[in-house]
Amino acid sequence: MLEIGGSVGKAGVNRPEDILVVKYLLNRNGHLLAPYSPLLEDANLNSRTLALIERYQERITLMTRPDRRVDPHGKTIRHLNINAREESSGEIPPIIYPLENWAEQDIRSEPASFAALRKDGRRHAGCDLYAPADTPVLAIKDGRIITKPYPFYLGTMALEVDHGNCVVRYGELDRIAVGLEIGTIISAGQLIAYIGELDGLGVSMLHMEMYTGRTPGPLTDRGNLPFLRRGDLINPTSFLESAVLISERRDDDADRTRAARA
Ligand SMILES: [Zn+2]
Repeated sequence: MLEIGGSVGKAGVNRPEDILVVKYLLNRNGHLLAPYSPLLEDANLNSRTLALIERYQERITLMTRPDRRVDPHGKTIRHLNINAREESSGEIPPIIYPLENWAEQDIRSEPASFAALRKDGRRHAGCDLYAPADTPVLAIKDGRIITKPYPFYLGTMALEVDHGNCVVRYGELDRIAVGLEIGTIISAGQLIAYIGELDGLGVSMLHMEMYTGRTPGPLTDRGNLPFLRRGDLINPTSFLESAVLISERRDDDADRTRAARA
């Protein structure tokens, strides 16, 4: 556990040795900050470092109002330590958007948004990407199927994928793609499932939940308010906002191939 002696960030004490610790830890959490390019590990607290602290607080610390400051013994420094990898992260690309086209509704607006309040008092544990029933669902990264499809909500199914740096529950599905089973290795952008329609509501969406994967046990934990989910739940919103469409990725690949031939 790496500690800091004073706060680092906006309106912080900002001792050089503490800034170094925070930048060191951010570089070891790059997998949770995608898209990411490593910070220079020096004592310069620049605007990019502040923006990354904010992104981390929104995604991982689950702060409603990120304050851009890492406090000694606070939640942000604890999460940075728990999730740190041994090696510094290299360049981490954006995720692939899990649908071929952008969702029909803004994921920062209720009821689609993460942490939106539900009638029963719980908070929404994922983002809803509204799209017609039968819309293909794509893997956001390379990964491995870790569950069978199982009943989820109002007649729909869910499927869990270990993406190496995170675990994703793809929910409110009609069915999964042919040939997938527990243990199947999948690649980023691969078709894995189709969106289902919620019984009695006549609406359809991909409900996507993300976890760091650092906590064992089932993803649903009815005793853990307000999300009723496992403790390593994270906020997928800004991952999705910075995602690339599979068509853009294909264009990029074609460009690279052309460039390599030229
Ligand atoms: Zn949902």
